[in-house]
Amino acid sequence: MNEDIMTADEIRQKFLQFFKDRGHAVIPSASLIPENDPTTLFTASGMQPMLPYLLGQEHPAGTRVADSQKSFRTVDINEVGDNRHTTFFEMLGNWSLGDYFKKEQIEWMFQFLTDEIKIDPNRLYVTVFTGDKKNNIPKDTEAAGIWKELFAKKGINAKEIEIGGEENGYKVGMQGGRIFYYDVKKNWWSRAGTPDNMPAGEPGGSDSEMFYEFTDIEHDKKFGELCHPNCDCGRFLEIGNNVFMQYKKNSDGTFSMLPKHNVDFGGGLERMIMAVQNCHDIFEVNHKSILSHIEKVSGKKYGQNCDDLKAFRIIADHMKASVFLIADGVIPGNTDRGYFVRRLIRRSVRYADLLGIKVNTLAYVVEPITNMYKDCYPEVHNQLERIIDIVIKEEMAFRKTLMNGLKEFEKVIKKGNFGSGSGEYVSSDAVFNLVTTYGFPVELVQEISEEKGLSIDLETFQMKMDLHKARSRSGSEQKFKGGLGGTGEMETKYHTATHLLRQALEDVLGEKIVQKGSNINAERLRFDFGFDRKMTDDEKRKVEKIVNEKILAGFPVQRVVMKKEEAEKTGAVHAFGDKYADEVSVYFVGDSLETAYSKEFCGGPHVENTNLLGRFKITKEEAVSAGVRRIKAVLES
Ligand code: ATP
Ligand code: MG
Repeated sequence: MNEDIMTADEIRQKFLQFFKDRGHAVIPSASLIPENDPTTLFTASGMQPMLPYLLGQEHPAGTRVADSQKSFRTVDINEVGDNRHTTFFEMLGNWSLGDYFKKEQIEWMFQFLTDEIKIDPNRLYVTVFTGDKKNNIPKDTEAAGIWKELFAKKGINAKEIEIGGEENGYKVGMQGGRIFYYDVKKNWWSRAGTPDNMPAGEPGGSDSEMFYEFTDIEHDKKFGELCHPNCDCGRFLEIGNNVFMQYKKNSDGTFSMLPKHNVDFGGGLERMIMAVQNCHDIFEVNHKSILSHIEKVSGKKYGQNCDDLKAFRIIADHMKASVFLIADGVIPGNTDRGYFVRRLIRRSVRYADLLGIKVNTLAYVVEPITNMYKDCYPEVHNQLERIIDIVIKEEMAFRKTLMNGLKEFEKVIKKGNFGSGSGEYVSSDAVFNLVTTYGFPVELVQEISEEKGLSIDLETFQMKMDLHKARSRSGSEQKFKGGLGGTGEMETKYHTATHLLRQALEDVLGEKIVQKGSNINAERLRFDFGFDRKMTDDEKRKVEKIVNEKILAGFPVQRVVMKKEEAEKTGAVHAFGDKYADEVSVYFVGDSLETAYSKEFCGGPHVENTNLLGRFKITKEEAVSAGVRRIKAVLES
């Protein structure tokens, strides 16, 4: 490799130093496990841990903050295999909390990219917000003007192009432009999405994204007639996003300026390295030592064959993610976070199989990974042996079942009518058997079916699985009768109680309750929410009474998976600041979704019925910071 090429450590260091020199406090990465939010499984962006501060809480480090945040995105698992998405990556971030704004941010970003890490400005393109006439939010000509001047200083005449909706981009193309105006779907940020979707009181603002162009990638018409910065063909790579939080939605639906303006920048470290090295493969520049190891044990060369390429990439990504998740305390298992690590490792085993690697091998990639991050994340390298142990155990256990399971798979393929079509399919019973007896993650069954061109009855399977879980859960309910419940069980109860509490607060306090944080352990729940005064004793009693009524009513707690837009229409409450996949899981308390007492976007787990909760009691109500109250509550048997 060329000696002059900057490494991840150097670019991370340069970024943090650059912002330190400009008055920023550099803070360490938060854990991949969010601290105050049981509704979100993983930290998926630099903004996530910063959200309370962007919403007004005072940051202990001041008004200028920068970091490099470990991020894990479950929603990107199916993108792994393309040239630029991984589930685990580092997000470089800098924030102005009511301090500097657009001019400084854009100038600094341009300076960092072009002077500091020396990305060729001729290869940079930017997008800005085209405005929202309906809501009277102006076009961001200010941001465009700042970019234009900066490009001019590099001798580049940056032409502005109106795009609007993404679909229009494929019709009008680049037109020699450098600065592109896109609509609310692409260049507007709020927790609720577009301005129309924002509830009253919600902050939001336009954003400006930066793209790097790989001139050696030809546009692929599969994605649309003409290429433009937001096209997914791979020619343009999004390297970072500057969000300018500037507006607030009023209760009459109009927008006004926030008293304090924030900047939130997030940019992928791995993607910046791609731009610096002008290399359009995120794995080539960030997973080199893992790929070499896979080459060694498989006898195959990375990049030589299209099918193998995907296998190499999946193993490299999934193992890096597993190492970081295990280091942050996640153990492979069957529920919640553990399930994701299990899925990552098991999927890696299967792709190792497809590459013809038959020996236990995943554990060997752990050290190259921890080594790569030895200086920046010593806590990961320090756990090397522990991580290797866990990976070996998980791989061995899965390999044992994998062989039998794959044989079984061939046997269960049926021919005949299935749903609206006919052909080969896997029945729900067969899926159930593969999952419960052979330990196949259901996604794996789905993936193998797709590879073989088989249909699969997932819906009926899901129903059977839910019933199965309900049965085994009431079994353990019996076991613990009269004694103490298992820890996981108590936490599940508190999780359901938190949903009831949120709705009851809304009923009693008469305004939309926005969750600011939540923390649960086996002894109590803790719930932080936006509210600007102390609650009266009477209000607290009323909240307790409502929650206990709902508990005694014995409402079922049910889960539905639906399209995000439909879920939003039902009025289900969103967890703060989350990006949701197209399909979301909604938990509701009540007999039907329409009549439910509480509905929330949530990954679970929850109890089956509210009558399992016991008696709900508020033990404390206090201030956390200006405008944020905290409730602690317990369930008594
Ligand atoms: P994309 O459209 O490429 O998926 P995004 O819109 O999901 O990106 P953001 O949510 O704005 O990205 O995240 C901020 C930055 O984090 C992106 O500009 C990019 O540099 C980086 N990033 C996002 N997702 C990934 C990923 N899966 N792998 C690597 N880097 C990523
Ligand atoms: Mg994305």
